[in-house]
Formats: sequence, structure tokens, C-alpha cells
Amino acid sequence: MSLRDNVHQLVNEHMKMGPDGKAHMVPALLDELREAVTPGHAGQAGGSDGGPPIPINPNAVDLLAKIENGAKGDYWEMLGVAWPGTLVDLLLQLPSGAPNAEWEAYLEHVLLDWIDEIVALLWPVKPRRKLFGKTCPACGLSLHGDERAVCLTLGCWDSTGELARIGEWDIRCEGCEAAWSGDQVAWLLRALDTPKPEMALVS
Ligand SMILES: [Zn+2]
Repeated sequence: MSLRDNVHQLVNEHMKMGPDGKAHMVPALLDELREAVTPGHAGQAGGSDGGPPIPINPNAVDLLAKIENGAKGDYWEMLGVAWPGTLVDLLLQLPSGAPNAEWEAYLEHVLLDWIDEIVALLWPVKPRRKLFGKTCPACGLSLHGDERAVCLTLGCWDSTGELARIGEWDIRCEGCEAAWSGDQVAWLLRALDTPKPEMALVS
């Protein structure tokens, strides 16, 4: 990754690996973030009655303001003049506008943080399922650590937040770090007295 790559992801359509393992063209991250702060944008195609208004995401409003203020603040620090134009134009000229390698490295890091924050906000990762009351066959515990956290957790969501096929699930012990995947998952769920995989999802 470079400063130029980070700018590209924020302001341009770019290639991204999808859940199917293939690269797809996806919109600019700043466009996706703006969509989350535009009221009533999604889901109203063709309907004049519109349905209930779609609430805007207040966290997206805050993040967009933080990025805009951060970029303009850094520009001021860097060159001692205020940026007069748009956020996108500011970002586009950063790779050639940074006065030295230190600034370039700093900005690369700042932009990467923004990318991570946008991704975490728009596509939150669903937490792993805790398998309460089940004993890890590797370490023999069902709870671990001072906080008595549940040992066995089940990963069953794909990268888009949908339920994955059971062949793609995995089970991990948060205590001893033993892990099971593929066909082992169905076998282990049976051994844990959870004969039907879907039962692991309701407890
Ligand atoms: Zn264990």
C-alpha cells in the first residue's frame, strides 16, 4: 500500500476481492460513506409514495466530518495555507503535494486509518457465536481466563454478514487456540452434543 493507493480507494472506483474470491469493481469509499449520510437514498427506486424515510447514520455523519476536518487540518499544517476546494480534490493532490517523505508516510497512515474506519462502520463484522456450556476437547475447559470467557466460538458468517455454508464454518477455542474447520466442524458439533448444526445458532 502507498499514499497513492489509499487515495485511490477513497476517491475512485477500485478493484476489491469479493466473498466469491474474485476481484470486483466497487465504488469509492467516500461515495459509500456519503450514501450513508444521504437521507432516503436507498430502497426508493420507482416508488412515488417512498415508504418510511430511511434514517441517516449519525456515525457516518461524524466520520465524514472528521475526515474532512482532518484532511483540511493536515493540509494547513503541511503548507500553511487553507485548502479552498473540495475534500476529493484535496485528497487527489496529496501524493504529489506532500513536501517530504515524512509527510507522505504520515498521510499514508492517516488515510489508511480512515479507510479502516469507513469499512468497519459500513460493513461491521458479525461477532463469532459463543458455544455456551460446551467443553473444548483439546484443553478440557468450557470457560477460560480471569473473566471466565466462553472457550468455544463458532465462525459462521461470510464477509458480507450472511450465514455461510456449514463447510465454511470454523470452531476455535479462545482459551487454548485449538481450531477446527471444514468437515471437522459438523463432527465436533455432534461430539459436543449439538447434533444439528442449526442448534449451534440458537443457544
Ligand atoms: Zn481449549
